[in-house]
Amino acid sequence: MKKIAKRISEIPISSTVHIADKAFELRRAGVHVIDFSAGRAHESTPAYVTQKASQALLDGDTHQTMALGTPEYRQACALKLYRDNEIEADPESEIIATMGVKQGLTLALMASVNPGDEVIVEDPCFVSYQPLIKLCEGQPVSIPLRPSNRFRWTSADLENAISPRTRAILLNSPQNPTGTVHTEDDLDIIAKVAQDHDLLVITDEIYERVTWGGRKHICMATRPGMRERTITVMGLTKTFSMGGWRIGFVFAPAENIAAMTKLQQHLLTCVGSFVQAGAAEAFREPPRPEVVALWRDWEKRCVYVSSELNGIKGVSCDQPEGAFYAWADVAGIDATSLEIAETLLREHHVAVVPGSAFGQNGEGYIRITCVKSWEDLKEGMQRIRKGLAKMQ
Ligand code: PMP
Repeated sequence: MKKIAKRISEIPISSTVHIADKAFELRRAGVHVIDFSAGRAHESTPAYVTQKASQALLDGDTHQTMALGTPEYRQACALKLYRDNEIEADPESEIIATMGVKQGLTLALMASVNPGDEVIVEDPCFVSYQPLIKLCEGQPVSIPLRPSNRFRWTSADLENAISPRTRAILLNSPQNPTGTVHTEDDLDIIAKVAQDHDLLVITDEIYERVTWGGRKHICMATRPGMRERTITVMGLTKTFSMGGWRIGFVFAPAENIAAMTKLQQHLLTCVGSFVQAGAAEAFREPPRPEVVALWRDWEKRCVYVSSELNGIKGVSCDQPEGAFYAWADVAGIDATSLEIAETLLREHHVAVVPGSAFGQNGEGYIRITCVKSWEDLKEGMQRIRKGLAKMQ
């Protein structure tokens, strides 16, 4: 008996997870695949964070926590917001623990979008935004990001997309896949439109600690008049290589957090207790020198991959401003981005993501995750160079 709900048949699979799974299967079959697809770093979680979670488990920290999350974890998140992001947050009412950033976004959308409401998203954007909005019965409205405007929206872009049904703008900075890091001026363009039309802004700041070339991440919630209309979602998946832990948090006005807490009580009960204990350790103090050193090395890897790609005929690739992907323009190659990605995986055993997975405007690009081991990067770039040369 197949009684699959319409809401599932109407959304696509996650292309990035799909390609990573395909690469994993090939590897299991003994093929030496180099996987540049999903945004997962080569390195594991720093030992001091893992030790804290292990100790919590051994100490019997195995019970459910408050739906909001443990006071210790929320306090650590508040400390982190104060130290890194110039935000003073009340850990009792303005922060909720989530099972990663996707779950934080799900809570944010479910708690604020009514059926038929429109949510503005970037095109290209993270593969799960549109499906999540649809699952919440909202209507995604995508606005192209153009390279000529350095993958940012203009005020006119936004104004043209507003309708009486517009409820929220979903923004990602540093951005996956383009690597854009919004400056204060960039954020203020969006902030003004949000204020003029009384919109909510949901910001996915999962890459906030990994910005390059001396750039600094700025939170939308710190811009004038924005704190009361911004839902900020952060996490440790990327920056502390904690993707398997499923941990993040949302910072938002107390009423929004209260709405999300009600949902969390029914959806999850709470985030894993010992996971919160480990994550609190990562947020409580400034990142240790080994973590900062790792981020510096990631920057070198991003520079290496983008310059290697730039040296390939038919390809051009700017250095990312932040996040850890190379967003390579492959329009000079006579094939779709999907054909390129499939050929690279099938014939050269290197997995990349076709730009079309991120939206219509992603066609003509491929995305490569740069935070793999140096060994894999060197071998993988050779394979890509050879593969693309054959497709010219
Ligand atoms: N947002 C963006 C922009 C991402 O790139 C990713 C991971 N690829 C996520 C959210 C997912 O985060 P998490 O694993 O913490 O749910």
